[in-house]
Amino acid sequence: MVLIYYAGHPDNWETYARLLPPALAEAGVTATLDNVVRDPAAVDYIVYTPDGPLQDFTPFTQTRAVFSLWAGVEKIVGNTSLTQPLCRMVDPGLTQGMTEWVVGHVMRHHLGLDIHITQQDGVWRDDLAPPLATDRNIAILGLGALGAAAGQALAGLGFQVNGWSRSAKQIPGLTCRHGPEGLSRTLALGDILILLLPLTPETTGLINVQTLAQLPKGAVVLNPGRGPMIDDTALLVALDRGHLAQATLDVFATEPLPKDHPYWAHPKVTVTPHIASVTRPETAVRALAQNIARDQAGQPLLHRVDRATGY
Ligand code: NAP
Repeated sequence: MVLIYYAGHPDNWETYARLLPPALAEAGVTATLDNVVRDPAAVDYIVYTPDGPLQDFTPFTQTRAVFSLWAGVEKIVGNTSLTQPLCRMVDPGLTQGMTEWVVGHVMRHHLGLDIHITQQDGVWRDDLAPPLATDRNIAILGLGALGAAAGQALAGLGFQVNGWSRSAKQIPGLTCRHGPEGLSRTLALGDILILLLPLTPETTGLINVQTLAQLPKGAVVLNPGRGPMIDDTALLVALDRGHLAQATLDVFATEPLPKDHPYWAHPKVTVTPHIASVTRPETAVRALAQNIARDQAGQPLLHRVDRATGY
C-alpha cells in the first residue's frame, strides 16, 4: 500500500480524488490518496503544483517522487527544499491540446485568414491565394513532448518543419538541428516561428534583437511556451518596423497580462490568455498511475526533471 499526497490546487482535489484511484487500480497500484497529511515521513509520492498548500518538502523524508501536474517546472525547480526526484507532466491530452492550438494558429497565418474575416468590403481580392504548405517553412524551437508532436502534425499537413533542440534528435518528417550552430539556420527558415522551449536561464531572452533579425522578413512568431523567452521590447520594435508580420502570444512575463500592456492594443499582436493547452485530468491520471507503477516495479521514472538544466 503506497500513500499519495495530493498537494495540487485545492479546487482540483475533488477531480483527482475521483479519477486517480481508478487509474491507480488499473495500473496495479494499491494506494491511499489524501489531500491532508498526518505523517509526512509516511508519504511515498506527492502530486504537486506550486499554487497548492505545499512549499517545504523537508519533512517528506521517505518520498520517492514528486509529480508536477504542470509541464513547465520553472516555478518548482528553484525550491531548494525539494530534493526528491521530480517529474514533469507529460499527458496525451495536454499534448493534443497544444498541437491543436499550434496547428490552428499556424493555419490562420498560413492562409492569411484575417484579411478575409476583417475585410468583407465588396472588394474581390483574387490575388490573395495562399502558397501551399509545402512552400512554407516552419521553425519550432523545442522538440520535446509538445514541440515534436506539433511539428509532426504540421509536417503531416505538408509544411517544411525545422526543429531545434539542445541535443541531437531524429524525428520523422522534421529537419532537426541542435546547439548554438543549429539555431541560426533554424531561425532563417522560420516563416512561422513557434516557441516550445522550457523557461530556463538559457532560454530566457533567447528571442531578442539579434535572433529576431535572423528570421525572414515578414515572419510570424507564435509563443505558446513561456513569456520571458521573448524580449518584449525587441518584438514590438520588429513588428513596428515591419520585419515581423504578426505575433500570436499565449504566455507573458507577467500574467495576467496587464490591461495597459502594449500587446493588447497592437494591431499585429494577438493575445490568448495562457490557454494554449492545459493538463487534462482524465488522461493525466493515467500518466501519473503508470509512472508510479513503474517506480513500484523498480523501473526508472519517466519525464524526470534534470536539476542541472532546469527542465
Ligand atoms: P520538454 O519535453 O522538456 O521539451 C523541451 C524541449 O526544449 C526539448 O527538445 C529540449 O531539448 C529543448 N531545450 C531545452 N533547453 C534548450 C536550450 N537551451 N537550447 C535548445 N533546446 C532546448 O517540454 P514540453 O513538455 O515539450 O513543454 C515545453 C514547454 O511548453 C514547457 O516547458 C512549458 O513552458 C510550455 N507549456 C505551455 C503551455 C501553455 O498552455 N501555454 C502548456 C504546457 C506547456 P532536448 O530535447 O535536447 O532536451
